[in-house]
Amino acid sequence: MKSKVNTQKVKAFFKKYMYYMIMGVCILAIGAMITVAAVVGTKDNNPDQTPGNLDQGTVTPPDDEVVTPPDDDDTPVDTDPDPIVFTMPVSGGTLVKDYTMDTLVWSTTLKQYQVHNGIDFGGEEGAKVLAVYDGVVLSVSYDALNGNVVTIDHGDGLVTSYSSLSEPAVTVGQIIKQGNELGTISTSATSEMSDGAHVHFSVTLDGAVVNPYDYFAEGDK
Ligand SMILES: [Zn+2]
Repeated sequence: MKSKVNTQKVKAFFKKYMYYMIMGVCILAIGAMITVAAVVGTKDNNPDQTPGNLDQGTVTPPDDEVVTPPDDDDTPVDTDPDPIVFTMPVSGGTLVKDYTMDTLVWSTTLKQYQVHNGIDFGGEEGAKVLAVYDGVVLSVSYDALNGNVVTIDHGDGLVTSYSSLSEPAVTVGQIIKQGNELGTISTSATSEMSDGAHVHFSVTLDGAVVNPYDYFAEGDK
């Protein structure tokens, strides 16, 4: 009897609170599912996002897109405000032998092929040899092959040389203006004696022979 009452009480208890117990279980279950879903979702999302981030991190722009602008630093050098222009070393002179640094020419005097590192200007007997540009007399010398030689320093490594002169009309250190007389044409250079009276005119820049035509005006070339 007693146990039956207890049983009924238990049944009544469950009957009374079953609804709340089920509700509680359901709430716990839902809560657990949400928690699991959140945890799993976090775990699922990270692997998806990490490779994506890695892909974006490893993508580098092509090197072709890096365009280096051209270097224009050399441009100001070309805009020399006062370019050097030579006048002719012999007024009314004639071209006896041209500058031929690239090809060998036959020397009738030395009986051999050789380059000609300057320009030979001839003219009438006693024609004056003139300075082609302002400068200072660097040297006055004589040797059998080149005859009387005057060199003029024009600054910045530019030097002009006048060989096969008669007696030089200038001295070392003398300040020279363009067109000043340096001497006259002659046959003092035995190496070019067969060319007749002339001046052998050559140009050096920093000690190296350069083409004299680089410094003559267009009309004189
Ligand atoms: Zn010559």
